[in-house]
Amino acid sequence: MIPLFKKYRGLEEALPYVGLCDLPTPVRRLETMGRSIGVEQLYIKEDGYTARPFGGNKVRKLEFLLGEAIRQGMTEVMTFGFAGSNHALATAVHAGKLGLKSISMLMPQANAHYVRRNLLMGRMAGAEMRGYPDFKKMSSGARNVRWGRRLTGRKAPYVIPPGGSSSLGVVGFVNAMFELKQQIDNSEMPEPDKIYLPMGTAGTAVGLAIGIKALSMKTKLVPVRIMDPDFISIERIRRLFAETVQKLRANDSMFPRVSFDPEEYLVRDEYIGDGYAVFSEKGMEAVRSAQETENIDLDGTYTGKGFACLMEDGRQGKLKDEVVLYWNTLNARDISNHAKEVDYQGLPKPLHRYFEEDVQPLDR
Ligand SMILES: *Cc1c(COP(=O)(O)O)cnc(C)c1O
Repeated sequence: MIPLFKKYRGLEEALPYVGLCDLPTPVRRLETMGRSIGVEQLYIKEDGYTARPFGGNKVRKLEFLLGEAIRQGMTEVMTFGFAGSNHALATAVHAGKLGLKSISMLMPQANAHYVRRNLLMGRMAGAEMRGYPDFKKMSSGARNVRWGRRLTGRKAPYVIPPGGSSSLGVVGFVNAMFELKQQIDNSEMPEPDKIYLPMGTAGTAVGLAIGIKALSMKTKLVPVRIMDPDFISIERIRRLFAETVQKLRANDSMFPRVSFDPEEYLVRDEYIGDGYAVFSEKGMEAVRSAQETENIDLDGTYTGKGFACLMEDGRQGKLKDEVVLYWNTLNARDISNHAKEVDYQGLPKPLHRYFEEDVQPLDR
């Protein structure tokens, strides 16, 4: 049983959940990297290995979201993201494994090799892939799908928000913090002073923040923004935190009434660079460094930018006497061979450009 349910039996009874993950994910010390950037006690939480054949952070949320879709008797799910969305792909793969059909509603982004791979993989997983020029067109596309279903007497699909970051999805990362606490209690690492991680729709960071408070830990979170603050404001983060705590307490009143504390949620916005999914020099330096020193795969959109922040703080001597954990959110399972077997011509026209246009300069 997952650690959150073990502690709060009311949640186990009430919340929808379907096991997709192979948990706990490993924690390991990064001695070489730590020494080279001046962080004596550096560790990594390898959420790349959450699941097969596609892992990463999104699967922890999907255990609850797809659990709810099944509980409601749904046969189809629909979700949203940018063209190379790891979330849309994780949804396609894991919904498919559960026998649910999935629809990926996708918006434009900067081109990269991983975008091509994720698009091909999504199609291979059996998802209906749809590309839109902007958010407005995508929203009306979603409306059309719902009307279409109703017109033919079928159920509308179960809707999963971007990044899976609803209060229910966030519960997956409250549990992830309980999982890390167990690993700390088993002496796999000391309690961290700081956890660094990239922040997109913030479900990952908010879940961890709730877990930290509920477990009365000293750990501070350092969420590194990888997209514009207009997209996910601090008010939105506060609201997601409150809604999730409310959901947990409504289902088990023993869950503590914790509240959001900006002193313990140290958002950084210096590493966005030129915007979402536009690779940056600093981010790519972090990708190369992590690969060379520790054989860890990071990416240009999320984890490279997050790790660049940690590396720079370390080099500036800010983390000398601290225990620091990097929460690696990127899928670590190799899927490139699967993607080779599909032809992009089978994707809808608006998505062809990622195969016909060059990738961005820093990805060549
Ligand atoms: C989606 C994603 C994130 C961001 O997670 P949020 O919960 O949306 O903040 C970070 N890293 C990777 C690799 C992701 O795919």
